Amino acid sequence: MDKESAYTLLNKSGLRKTSGRVAILNCLIKEQKPLTQQEIAEKLTDVNLNEVSIYRALEAFDKAGIIHRVEGLDKVWRFAVSYHPLSGNCHPHFICTECGRVECLTDLEVPKLTPKNYTHKIKSREMILKGYCEECT
Ligand SMILES: [Zn+2]
Ligand SMILES: [Zn+2]
Repeated sequence: MDKESAYTLLNKSGLRKTSGRVAILNCLIKEQKPLTQQEIAEKLTDVNLNEVSIYRALEAFDKAGIIHRVEGLDKVWRFAVSYHPLSGNCHPHFICTECGRVECLTDLEVPKLTPKNYTHKIKSREMILKGYCEECT
């Protein structure tokens, strides 16, 4: 099941399906929350991937729209799977100001705010909700 999803996402993106890329993607699918590159590396110790290959894979996934990134309070990027690449990164994210935990709020949508009197072309929208997570309240 997980493997299929990783394959499906890679197929959609048109990226090469190397075992390393499948492993990284499977890890993100399994965790279902945004992970830092370091957290991904720690979970993939049985796969022979160095920092650079993980970084490059994440860059490629992000560019292809199958994952998205969120910056944590520590200014470190977290990566999470995007199941609906066409709609882009349209869900808000939650950040716990106490423990720094980052979550995708996939049941919510970022409202479409289009500036009327500007010629700017909006390509992505981000929304961060901050507060205390379950464990920190
Ligand atoms: Zn917390
Ligand atoms: Zn997200």
